[in-house]
Amino acid sequence: MIDKLPTVKKLMRHLQQVPFLASKNMYRVTSYFLQLDDERIEQFCRALKEAKARVVLCQTCFVWQEQNEQCSFCFDKSRDSSIICVVETWHELLVIERTEAFRGLYHVLGGVISPLEGVGPKDLKIEELIVRVTSGVVELVFAMNQTPEGEATVAFIARKLHGKTVKVSCLAKGIPIGSNLEFVDRLTVGKALADRKLF
Ligand SMILES: [Zn+2]
Repeated sequence: MIDKLPTVKKLMRHLQQVPFLASKNMYRVTSYFLQLDDERIEQFCRALKEAKARVVLCQTCFVWQEQNEQCSFCFDKSRDSSIICVVETWHELLVIERTEAFRGLYHVLGGVISPLEGVGPKDLKIEELIVRVTSGVVELVFAMNQTPEGEATVAFIARKLHGKTVKVSCLAKGIPIGSNLEFVDRLTVGKALADRKLF
């Protein structure tokens, strides 16, 4: 059926390239766009083009910012510039910000070292992070995803920081709030036990 609709097929080919868009939703998303009136389509395309043209990465922390505007983190005088939270991507930064428990600065690496996927240290903002660690920076908090690649990336950066007097910390690994110990995996319970803290 879809072969008889070459323009729809072309639209779907583009949609298929959008990461995280589940293939089972592809027909629904396609229908949504086909049902939009011309004005809405125009607005959608304009918003996409504008975002692409006007949103750039801050050249210090590598967080998205509006072009010609100051970075909302690096230039915020109320934030503590002596502590930098290092994250893989912007998505993790948003998670940390939602907690309202961190008032320091950020550094987005842009991923993790992964030889299998062809990502080396040079592909990430590691050198830029090392340069940021000057005498005013007291602590780097690594808020990485709990994967072997995440751990290896922290280890690599920690080695690079050798000789600098900066505290390096990682998020505590432990039991999720509200969970039953019985259903938590062995590795997590073991790590939570090892990282226990005084009540
Ligand atoms: Zn910034």
